[in-house]
Formats: sequence, structure tokens, C-alpha cells
Amino acid sequence: MYEAFWKSAGAAADISIASWTSLSYFSDVTNLCWFLEPQLAHQIRRLHRLVGNAVAGEDRFIIVGTGSSQLFQAALYALSPPDAAEPMSVVSLAPFYSTYPPLTDYLRSPLHKWAGDASKFAGDRYIELVCTPNNPDGSIREAVLCSGEGKTVHDLAYYWPQYTPITHPADHDIMLFTLSKTTGHAGSRIGWAVVKDRAVAKRMIQYIELNTIGVAREAQLRAAKILQLVSDGYESPNPDKEMKLFDFGRQKLAARWHKLTEAVQASGIFTAPSFEPAFCNFTGDVSENLPAFAWLKCEKEEVEDLESYLKEKGIMVRGGSRFGKEARYARVSMVDHDEAFDLFVQRLAAMS
Ligand code: PMP
Repeated sequence: MYEAFWKSAGAAADISIASWTSLSYFSDVTNLCWFLEPQLAHQIRRLHRLVGNAVAGEDRFIIVGTGSSQLFQAALYALSPPDAAEPMSVVSLAPFYSTYPPLTDYLRSPLHKWAGDASKFAGDRYIELVCTPNNPDGSIREAVLCSGEGKTVHDLAYYWPQYTPITHPADHDIMLFTLSKTTGHAGSRIGWAVVKDRAVAKRMIQYIELNTIGVAREAQLRAAKILQLVSDGYESPNPDKEMKLFDFGRQKLAARWHKLTEAVQASGIFTAPSFEPAFCNFTGDVSENLPAFAWLKCEKEEVEDLESYLKEKGIMVRGGSRFGKEARYARVSMVDHDEAFDLFVQRLAAMS
């Protein structure tokens, strides 16, 4: 979806990296996160300040990761006591992002284990994953558990103005963000964590040291340039060419949600979530929640497996059971290429 925006940016968003630079493992030995490129740290803080979506000043630790997926694992490692008798339970309210369970369990670690839907969990020792706006259903969430020993990780991948009104600067213990959802550069594999506590930050950094000895410096430099262009688009706009990424994203998503709603009504067999508009501090306007995914439910009694049903009709989705819900739900991407999205709504509208 973002390709057209970045094409129009042209050379202003490109970087060139000389072969003799960025050879060392180290980006900045004076920083606790020694593999974080200083320009990237600067542009991350600058963008959060501009957007007002997270408290990320100098008194917070920024940790870069190979995507927020690596930081998710680093957070689980950091929050699970190394010598506990039992693994920490990792939970999230259903429907939850389908990658949380396999990412928690694939190494069968003695440190942590997936324990499913947070609303069904009873116990004191847990890590609750709070994804807001939520993947897959776009809901705005807060932690559902509250126990003295419990920990939370806030996955704020979609807390950006193209997807949702920015109602307050988030200020949680561990907040995860990713370039993939902020600007569309998923393949650069850059994510960042904003962390309050130094000891937690240190353990997350230790995880990344052991796992990949840092994060590709070339990708970080590219991410810094991309984020710089995003902030410049608002703070020092070019009078000849408007480059406002969040406005671009909102317009695209608003048009797509409109088309999707029409297709859902035309078919008459689906329902999609609807959301209350809210005041967005960034746009200075009341705006709608425009999630990156549509969480569809099929109201036809006989359709119990919506993923297979839609596959037969030429629509690829991820079925509800992977998100901890019934298979009559499915998640559809709202951020694909224009052609794919248009084909999807045409096919959906034609169903009955
Ligand atoms: N968290 C959520 C909620 C996501 O939707 C995604 C990507 N689908 C990720 C994390 C992973 O992001 P990354 O590409 O940075 O690893």
C-alpha cells in the first residue's frame, strides 16, 4: 500500500552506503544498546515526539531489533526469571496476533510457555501481551490482568495516526514498534522497543547480543533516513511536494474501509467490526479507527471454516482459530497493493 508514497518521494528517501563504512559490530559504544545507530535513535525519538504516540525521551531506553519479532522474544527472555521452577505463562486476550503462540513456544524454552487467552487465565506469574490497536480485530485495548507479579508487553505496532486516533502518549514498561507498520518497510526488518527499566533493557540487549550480535547497520541507516523523511514531511515541508505519510495512509485506508463496508453490505453474509471515532491529538480532528486488517465473521450457519470457504472463492485469509477464536472468523489484509485489494472487495461483494 505504501509503495506509491515512497515512489513519489524519489531520491530524497534513498541512501548510499560506502563499502568501507559500518564494518564493525559496534554502532555506539557509549550507549547501553551499543548496536543502535545514533541517527536511528534520534529519528525514533523525534518521530514519537512529533506524533505524540509514546513517551520516548532521553530517560527511556531505545533498543533496536531485527523486526519487532526479535524484540518480542527479547522481552519474553528479559521478563522470565532464569532460575524459576516453572516457566512464565504468556497470555493475550483473544483474538490475539497469531504469531504470539508459536513465537513463545517454538524453542520449548524452560523460561516461558504460551498459556492462551488472557481472559481465561488464573494465576499471578504471567506476561500479558497487549496489542493495541489489536491485530487482528483493530480493537483498542488495555491489559486485562492485574496482579503484583504480572508483567505486560505493549505491542504498539499499529498505534500510528494512519490506523487510529492518537489519544494520548503511551507510557508503558515495554513498548514495541516496527518500521513495517509505520512506513511499510517490512523487509528492512527494523523494530524498536521503548523500555523504562534499565535492568530489563539490559537483559533485552543481552538477548540480541546472543541471538544475532546486534542488528544490520545498513538496515538501521535506511530506517533512519526513511523516518527522517516522515518527520520532515510535517516539520519542514517541501513547498513543491507534499510528503505527509500519515495523511497518505489515512486517505488510502479510509477509502478502502469504505469499499470494504460496501462489499460487506452487498454480500449480506458477513459482518465486520465498527468503531467509535475519537479525537486525534496528532491530526487535531475527530477521526476514525482504520485498522490494517478486517476481522470478518461469516453469518451463514453452514460456513464453519471461513478460511477454506474464502479460499475456494479466490480470497486468501487467515482463519479465526489461529487467533484463538472460532473458525467462522477470518482476518483479511487492508494494506495490500491496490490491485489485490480491489479484486478482493469485488469477489467479496459478489458472494451471497
Ligand atoms: N506485532 C504485530 C501486532 C504485528 O502485526 C506484526 C507484523 N504482522 C509484528 C508484531 C511483527 O513485526 P515485524 O515485521 O517488525 O517483525
